[in-house]
Amino acid sequence: MTGATWTPPPDFDYALRQADPQPVAGCDDCERLAQRRSAARSAGDGSAATDANVLLRQHLQQDHP
Ligand SMILES: [Zn+2]
Repeated sequence: MTGATWTPPPDFDYALRQADPQPVAGCDDCERLAQRRSAARSAGDGSAATDANVLLRQHLQQDHP
């Protein structure tokens, strides 16, 4: 068992392990990223959804402190 690393299954959804960042009402950037996230989820693209969440978190920190 030495050196064994755990590999997540392909459908492992990292986004489910953290609460989704919530878009701020009336902010176009927030809305765009939230739409991108839900579009990615609808398409079954978990990594794109996670990307959108990362970008939304960064945007929230920078523009909605
Ligand atoms: Zn925003």
